Order: sequence, then structure tokens, then C-alpha cells
Amino acid sequence: MESPPESPSTPLAMSNRSPIRRILVANRGEIAVRVIRACRDLGLESVAIYSAADREALHVRFATYAYPVGEAAASESYLNIDRVLQVAREAEADAVHPGYGFLSENPEFARRCEDEGLIFIGPTADCLALVGDKARARQAAIDAGVTVVPGSPGPVESAAEARRFADELGYPIMLKAAAGGGGKGIRLVDADDELDSAFETAASEARSAFGDGRIYVEKAIVAPRHVEIQILADLHGNQVYLGERECTLQRRHQKVLEEAPSPVVGQELRERMGAAALAVAAQAGYSNAGTVEFLLDAAQDFYFIEVNARLQVEHPVTELLTGIDLVAEQISLAQGDKLSFEQEDVELRGHAIECRIYAEDPDNNFAPSPGVVEALRIPGGPGIRNDSCLFEGYEVPIHYDPIVGKLIAWGTDRPAAIRRLQRALAEYKVRGIKTTIPLFQRVLADADFINADFDTGYLDHFLNDAPEAADGAGDDADPIAEAARLAAALHVFLSEEERAYRPPSTVGSPWKLAGRAAGLDHEP
Ligand code: ADP
Ligand code: ADP
Ligand code: MG
Repeated sequence: MESPPESPSTPLAMSNRSPIRRILVANRGEIAVRVIRACRDLGLESVAIYSAADREALHVRFATYAYPVGEAAASESYLNIDRVLQVAREAEADAVHPGYGFLSENPEFARRCEDEGLIFIGPTADCLALVGDKARARQAAIDAGVTVVPGSPGPVESAAEARRFADELGYPIMLKAAAGGGGKGIRLVDADDELDSAFETAASEARSAFGDGRIYVEKAIVAPRHVEIQILADLHGNQVYLGERECTLQRRHQKVLEEAPSPVVGQELRERMGAAALAVAAQAGYSNAGTVEFLLDAAQDFYFIEVNARLQVEHPVTELLTGIDLVAEQISLAQGDKLSFEQEDVELRGHAIECRIYAEDPDNNFAPSPGVVEALRIPGGPGIRNDSCLFEGYEVPIHYDPIVGKLIAWGTDRPAAIRRLQRALAEYKVRGIKTTIPLFQRVLADADFINADFDTGYLDHFLNDAPEAADGAGDDADPIAEAARLAAALHVFLSEEERAYRPPSTVGSPWKLAGRAAGLDHEP
């Protein structure tokens, strides 16, 4: 068959798109639940896919239709393009929402969707290929007149070549994977004698995570903040930005807590960063929702680092601030609609903060904590949003990213948002698995966090300096301490406070008792 000329992103090609009615959600976990909820809100049908490990998952229950997609291993299921497309055909979906992670930034997947006449809810394949290569994205930013972190013009061939740039730029420098994402393949190099081994580890991490070991060099910005701009672009050349998100609290270069607005970004800087983000997007031929990431230094100079060409984990803070449903906008933009509002219509109200809830043990070096959720109490009340895939009895599988939810609070200002989040974290109980909830309780009580006095090194310092958690987490090996904890669990179980939360008929259920004993460490 003759393939049509490659111009999938021209308005003309899009204007005859028909409205989306049934969306295959090519993802799992909390983000699949989020997208399926948007489908329901819009009166659209959703098609869930699930691996052998996800038969009982919440996204499967919430979707209009659900299809098995393969074995537990992601490579056999959520990353299997042939199989995902086969399900899309079988289910007669007319569009695919890729969520984040998995196939969301895979140009081949977007191209195959386009070839099959399926609307890929995201930018075009060509655009994904461009911005997915971080070295090319940097060049696009330079071409758009946006300041990038000084560094090599493209990937370097060897540690020796990296050294030449390092000598020119001055240490410390960053070695970064061109194909990188999720904080992988990034190494800080403080001095010349660390460069060779850092180059090797960054390249081999990049090869195993992305199948692409290419490395480029950037000067390390000292004590920066991570500030990113959410953008929306339609297929007719219209663009808006929806303010910034501050994502400075990171562990291993991966975000842990995000907020908006940034406590250090005023209106004038916001407008300059917004304009820079839109210039990069235009240069890259970007359409749909996306995020342009910057580092902000102490002098309030900002530097482009990368484009995330998808819905982002932390998108809810922007939704709470603007009242705009980003998934609904993605769907509308993907079917060729014009943006329904202009920059002047975007208003930022109040303050929002998100905590990423991971099935990991923050008191044990973030060890994975898969297993059965034996009891669950979900926070609620004014200003609280809970995006999660958890329910009582759900077994968190070991096979995937440990994110199981996000807890987001909105308040009229930052202190109000912090207090609400603290209140909601105290309400949040998860028994049976460990989660990052206790970490956030500690961070939100920290004076530097409260004063917004932090940079990207904050969380590592905080974790290193933290005194041994006071809840007896270090006593695991001691049978007497363990017996004391079980006794305490029983006491808690019988306490007035606990009874007040549960209908009397469930209070005495033996499995719940076991669950509470196991999950004692989540008691305040
Ligand atoms: P965000 O950028 O949306 O704030 P992360 O950078 O933490 O969030 O990435 C979101 C998810 O996508 C994580 O599960 C991460 O491991 C995964 N991810 C991000 N980029 C890539 C990539 N290039 N390849 C594979 N997985 C990725
Ligand atoms: P990823 O694709 O993994 O998200 P990014 O390029 O967005 O990688 O960088 C992730 C994080 O690493 C940033 O938010 C920042 O904390 C840190 N980082 C990246 N580049 C630099 C740099 N040049 N100087 C200082 N920190 C950096
Ligand atoms: Mg990034």
C-alpha cells in the first residue's frame, strides 16, 4: 500500500478527524484509573488492558470494557505494541491514551497508531522522536532562543570527549542519558578523577533502561530548583501555558512532592518562563498536553532541561489551580478541536501540593513493598483529591513502578494547603504494605519545607540527617519488641478512636485484626 505523505500534524490532516468515542487506555495503576474517570465524565467509553498480574486491578473494574494483554512482565503486556494494537482493533477503539511511562513517549507506538487510523492522544510520532532525544530537544530550545544549561551540543562519543567539555565548562558537571527519563542515566561528577567511572555507570544504566547508551554533558547548576511549565497546544497553531509546578523535592533525580504555584516564582518570571516553554513547543511542532522542564538558579535565571511529551504524574496540582481537566483537554485536542480558551482566560487560584504515594518503605531505604492491602482508609474532606489504584484486598504487584497513588491538597494559600495535606495524611491508613505516607508527614513538619527554603538536594539531606524513625521501625529483629508492637496493635484496634472510624459489624473481623497488627507503623 502506498503510504500517504508524512504530514500528520498539519491542521488540514486533522480537521477531518471524527469525534473520539471509545478510548483504549494503554496503561495501568492510578493513571489508568485517572484517564478512565475522564472518559466517564465526558460520556465516552473506555477500554482497559490488563496483564496477568492485574486481573483484579481497579482500572479493570472501572473501565467500560477490559481485555487481557499478556503476561505480568511489562515487556509481554503493556509494552507489547503488537498486542496492544491487536486489542485496540478487537475492541474497536478509535483512540489510544498512553498515560505516562510505558509506551507514552514511544514514537514507534504513536506511528503505528497513526498507521492503523487510531488517534494517539499525544503529540505526533515525529515530534515524540524529536523531544524524546534530549540532546535534540536541547537544540530545538537553542533554535527557539531559549537558554539551555551550557553543555555539549549533542551526545559525546567517549569519556575522553566528555572530559574535554568538562574542562571547558568547569566542574561539577552532569552526565545525562540522551534517551533518559525517570531520573535514570544521570550522574553528577564533582571532579576529573570521578569522570571515567561515572561515564561508564551512566552509559550502562542508560543502555539497560532505554536500550540507548548515548550520553551528553551539562554543567551542573548549583543548588537549583526544578520548575516546569504545563502547556497545551492544538493542531491549529494555538498554544497556552497553565502556570508552573515546583518539583524540587526529588530523590535520585525523581520527583517525590510537587506543588503549584512555585513559592519563588512571581508573575513576571512566570510569564517569561511560559513564553520560553511555548517557544520550545512551537519549535518542536508540539501538539496536545506537554511539560517543559527548567532548572531555576539562585539568581532566578532559568535553563531549559527537557520536554515531557505526555500527561505528567503531577498534573493534578495544575488541575486544582486552574480548574482545567487536562485529560479532557488532551482528548479534545487529539480529535482536532481548537483550544476552547485563551491565555488571558487562565487563572491560577490558591495553592496545591501533591505527595506521591509509593509502595516502598521509607524507613528501609525505600525497599519495594508489594503485597496485599489488608485495610485502607482513604482521606477526604474539603480540598482533598485522592488519585489512587488502591482498595482493600488489592495485591500490589512487584512487576511495575511502585507508584500506587497521589494525595493532593488544595488551599487558599500555601500554609492552608500544607495544613490540609497534613490532616489528610493523618487520615490516610494503609495496612499490609509500607508506603511513603510517613515520609511526607515528616517533610511537611520540617521548618525548611514550611519556609519553602529548599533546592534539589533538600530531600537527600533530609533523609540522611533524619534521626532513626521513632516508631520502632529499627526493632524488627527483636522478638520482644515485635511482641510489644503486636500488643500495641491490639490496643489500638480496641481503642475508641479506631471504633469511631468503622461500622461496629466490621470491628471484630479477624482478618482486619491481622491487617492492623501488620500495619502498625502507620499509626500516628
Ligand atoms: P513525571 O516526569 O511525570 O513527573 P517521572 O519522571 O517520575 O514523572 O516519570 C513518570 C513515570 O514514567 C515513572 O514511572 C518513570 O519511571 C517513567 N518514565 C519516565 N520517563 C521514562 C522513559 N524515558 N522511559 C521509561 N520510563 C519512563
Ligand atoms: P529525566 O529525564 O530523568 O527527568 P531531567 O533532565 O529532567 O531528567 O533531570 C532530572 C533532574 O536531575 C532535574 O530535575 C534536576 O534535579 C537534576 N538535573 C538534571 N540536569 C541537571 C543539571 N544540569 N544541573 C543540576 N541538576 C540537574
Ligand atoms: Mg525530567
